[in-house]
Amino acid sequence: MEFSWNEDQQALRAAAREFGARMLTEGVEARDRAAEFSHELWSECAAFGLPGLVVPESLGGLGHDVMTAVAVMEGLGEGAEDNGLVFSLAAHAASVAGPIVDYGTAPQQQQWLPRLASGAAIGAAGVTEPGTGSNALGLTTRAERDGDGWLLNGAKTFVSNAPIADLFLIYARTAPGKLAGLTAFLVPADTPGLSVGKPISKMGLRTSPMAEVFLDACRLEEGAVLGSVGSGGMIFNQTMDVERLLVMAPAVGVMRRLLERCTAHARERNTGNGTLASHQAIAHAIANMELDLEQSRLLLYRAAWAAMRQSTATRESALAKLAVSEAYVRSCRTAMQVFGGYGYTVEYGLERELRDALATPLYVGTSEIQRNLSAGLRGLK
Ligand SMILES: Cc1cc2nc3c(=O)[nH]c(=O)nc-3n(C[C@H](O)[C@H](O)[C@H](O)COP(=O)(O)OP(=O)(O)OC[C@H]3O[C@@H](n4cnc5c(N)ncnc54)[C@H](O)[C@@H]3O)c2cc1C
Repeated sequence: MEFSWNEDQQALRAAAREFGARMLTEGVEARDRAAEFSHELWSECAAFGLPGLVVPESLGGLGHDVMTAVAVMEGLGEGAEDNGLVFSLAAHAASVAGPIVDYGTAPQQQQWLPRLASGAAIGAAGVTEPGTGSNALGLTTRAERDGDGWLLNGAKTFVSNAPIADLFLIYARTAPGKLAGLTAFLVPADTPGLSVGKPISKMGLRTSPMAEVFLDACRLEEGAVLGSVGSGGMIFNQTMDVERLLVMAPAVGVMRRLLERCTAHARERNTGNGTLASHQAIAHAIANMELDLEQSRLLLYRAAWAAMRQSTATRESALAKLAVSEAYVRSCRTAMQVFGGYGYTVEYGLERELRDALATPLYVGTSEIQRNLSAGLRGLK
């Protein structure tokens, strides 16, 4: 077994952490309150290469493999307190750019990847629907043949980046049947028939905009099909294996940031009867945070390793997503407890961290769905 990162990966993670702390932290409290996505900061991220994390260098990206992309996103998460912007970046890179890298034709790649990598175009993926939710492969948005193209009708909800997106990856039904009945389509935001609803106001990740997307006789050319007709379910499953890791890597970074903050605070604060650190209840709570962090790292790295070497890494990726998201929420809860009343104030930023963290057991498949995946792979369901 090999547990070390190479020097390049370490340097990239450290650079991302430094960039995140320097650029994506100041002003987050106000942006969170205003639910503001910052185009200016998106441009800074683009100058750093982040939207093109997984896009090949020949098409303007950084060309990172999954392990290296995980290292970068972990570093970014540790440095950047704007968890919403980091989530928007991860969704763009993993749920839109990634599948075009893996399944796009040469013309599709030429058309979209340089713009997605440079940040000039922002991507959003529409899977979830009001009527099917967690039953993602049961989605009912229809794509029907229309001459030499397609007509899409349906509605998507909770689409991250929708209000700012230039390109949507829309999963639609082209035939009955779960896996083979779905097809993925590349839909530019200005396509007639596609409209975006009002931004959905939410509890956390407020700097990452989200909306419903409506498809009303939205006509697409044959060239809009990503992969082949009927390969949408496979593309979705393969994409999710990596997406879970790229969106959870920043969470591991945040857990490390919170561990360091709690350690410093426990050493420093003395309530007249010793430091907080001298109370075993607090010291143990912080030890549990470190345990959660280390367990999360191992599962995350193991899943990224599997995703690079195996044809599917659903089991590893689902277990990592489940463990990291729940450990992340626990860490935020503990941090708030360690900081006491200060943790509950807006000034300390921990209530925002908790609000942001509470989304992680929900998106990219809920914790229950990750357990279903794991149980299903053991023949239990
Ligand atoms: C911050 C955020 C960002 C998101 N971004 C996107 C995005 O970019 N694109 C996109 O398409 N979607 C996105 N989603 C949607 C997300 O994937 C869904 O919220 C999630 O899949 C759950 O669907 P639902 O909300 O309809 O809940 P429901 O499916 O109604 O589930 C409600 C509860 O029942 C449980 N449940 C449902 N079915 C089962 C089952 N079969 N077995 C056991 N338990 C079950 C769920 O786990 C959950 O606890 C986002 C969500 C959030 C919160």
